[in-house]
Amino acid sequence: MSVTADIQRLRTELGKLASFSETPAPAVTRVVFGDMDLRARDYLKTLFAEASLVVHEDPVGNTFARWLGRGKSLSPIATGSHCDAIPNAGRFDGTVGVIGGLEAIRALQRSGFEPQRSIDLVMFTAEEPTRFGIGCLGSRLISGALDSSVGDTLTSEGRTLNELRLAAGFSGRLIDVPLSPGAYGAFVELHIEQGPILDREQLDIGVVTAIAAPASLRIIVDGEGGHAGAVMMSDRHDAFLAAAEIALAIEAAARATGSPDTVATTGVCEVFPGAINSIPSQARLDVDVRDVDLRCRDAVLAAITAACDGVEGRRGVTVRLEPINADPPARCASPIVNAITTACETRGLRHRTMVSRAYHDSLFMSRIAPTGMIFIPCRDGISHRPDEYASPEAIGRGTEVLADTLAALAG
Ligand SMILES: [Zn+2]
Repeated sequence: MSVTADIQRLRTELGKLASFSETPAPAVTRVVFGDMDLRARDYLKTLFAEASLVVHEDPVGNTFARWLGRGKSLSPIATGSHCDAIPNAGRFDGTVGVIGGLEAIRALQRSGFEPQRSIDLVMFTAEEPTRFGIGCLGSRLISGALDSSVGDTLTSEGRTLNELRLAAGFSGRLIDVPLSPGAYGAFVELHIEQGPILDREQLDIGVVTAIAAPASLRIIVDGEGGHAGAVMMSDRHDAFLAAAEIALAIEAAARATGSPDTVATTGVCEVFPGAINSIPSQARLDVDVRDVDLRCRDAVLAAITAACDGVEGRRGVTVRLEPINADPPARCASPIVNAITTACETRGLRHRTMVSRAYHDSLFMSRIAPTGMIFIPCRDGISHRPDEYASPEAIGRGTEVLADTLAALAG
C-alpha cells in the first residue's frame, strides 16, 4: 500500500481557501459566520462531496465529513482542525489540518485502503476568539466544556451567538451539539507548530505529547485618584504603580517554576482615568498563564494571589482577582503518539516529541476521545501573521504521516 499526498493539489486548495478573505492577500481574515467564512465553507463542502464523504453540520456549524468504514458497529475515528482566521493572519493555521486531513483521506482512498472504522474529517467552528471572545467555541461545545446557555450570553456587535448562527444557516439547539465520551475511538489533529523549534532544528515532524492550557484572569486594582501636582508622593495610593508591581511579580512567578513550559503574560493594562495630570485611580490587568503541568500552573496562580495580597497591604489599594477561565492541560494518548512515531520512522522522517504551547481544538477533543497532534514546521515559527509559511513539501509530509496514523487507528 503506497500512500502519497498530492502536494500540488494541497498547495492549490490552500491557495483557493486563502482567497476567501476579508483583507487583501497575503493576509487572510476570516471571521466565523461572516460572508467569507460561509463562502469558504461552501468551497470545502464541494471538496468533501468530490471525495464521496458524507457531510453533516451541527447547530453551531461544526462540519463533519465522513468516510464510511466497513465495521458499522465500531466507533469512528476523526481528524480535523479549523478554518477561521484572526484579522491579518496567514493561510496555514488550522487550514493545514482541514485540507491536509482531506488529502490524507483521499491518499488512502487512492491507495485502495478500506477502513474498518469510519473516519470523520471535522472542521470546528470558531477556534479563534475573534468574534465571541472565547477560543475553541465549536470544540468546547462538542466536549461539553461549554454550556448551551452561551447561545444567548455570548454576543458580537449586539447580536447573540444564537441569532448569528441561525442567520448563517445553522439551526437546531445548542444542547444537541455535545458528543458523548467514546463517540470517537481517536482524534488526531495536523497543525503547523506556530513556534520555532522544528524549523530551527530542521525536523520534519513534531509528535505532540501534551497540550498546554491557559488560565486567564483579570486583576482590578482600586487606588485613590487625585491631582498630579497637588497630592504629595507620600500620600498617594497609585493604582497603576500597584498594578506594575503585580505584573513584575507575575513574571517572577512564571520564571520561578524553573520549567521552560511555564509562561505568563500580562497582555492588557488599562489605566483610569488615563490623563497625564491625574493619579491613576484604577488599573486593570488581563493575565494569561500557561503550562502543560497543571500543578505548575496552579502554583503560579497561587503566587499571583499572594503577590496581590502583599501589594494591597503595602500600597493601601484594594485588589480584586476575577478568573476568566482555567482549562486543564491535556496529555496525548500513547497509542496515538506511538502510531505517529511509527509513521515517522517508517517514512524515515526526522522527528521529535514536543509539547504544544498554543492550545488547539485537540485540547477539548481530548476530553471525549484519546487524542494526538502532528506538528509540521513553519518558517521562523511565525504564525498569526500574513507571512506565516509552511512549505508544500512540509505539508505533504505531515499529510502522509496523518494518513498512516489514520490507517493504523482505523484498522
Ligand atoms: Zn490553529
